[in-house]
Amino acid sequence: MSLMDRLYDNLDEAKAFEISFTNFVHCYDDTCYMDFAECVCEVCDRTIQTKDFLVPKANCKKPYGILSSLDMGVNQELRDELIERFDITENDFRPVRNKKGEIVFYQITPQHVMLPIAKENGWNQLPACPKCGAVRYASHEYENEKGEFYYNISQEALRDIHDFNITCELLECYRPMYVISRRVYDFLIKKYPRTHYFPLFLKH
Ligand SMILES: [Zn+2]
Repeated sequence: MSLMDRLYDNLDEAKAFEISFTNFVHCYDDTCYMDFAECVCEVCDRTIQTKDFLVPKANCKKPYGILSSLDMGVNQELRDELIERFDITENDFRPVRNKKGEIVFYQITPQHVMLPIAKENGWNQLPACPKCGAVRYASHEYENEKGEFYYNISQEALRDIHDFNITCELLECYRPMYVISRRVYDFLIKKYPRTHYFPLFLKH
């Protein structure tokens, strides 16, 4: 039985999933997020990543993981398998390197932007930044009877979904949600039964 089957009773009905790997792939002790990013607005402190993240190879033990930046990642083998099996391309990943410059892992950077799902999830738009106009949403999660979070998706957004996606809504820290299709979830959960995701259900 997978971890997910223990947490949710109705996974058959889930249409898509937010990736939420829980094992950390820690960065070097002497680096921090801002070594790889730039602040683009001093009012809202919004940042954009400008360089590939650096991680020691020894910290990439599992094929998947969450980076210190809270971005999700996979190893080369899993990346290649995802590209081969699904409608996923090299552009959906960004290299993570060690200090020698060797690629040791891949950050997941989906190119497809989903249609809005804020309304289905009760995400309220926060006031736009007065300087740069950036908009983010206050995220809100629904809870099942076991206290596990889930989200909703509209039929329209589901029809438009790709295998790898980001939400068009930016949530905390101006970050989108990373969403995979049902078929990518089915592949990953079979291969790695201990991986974790948050399901999205169709909102009628
Ligand atoms: Zn701003």
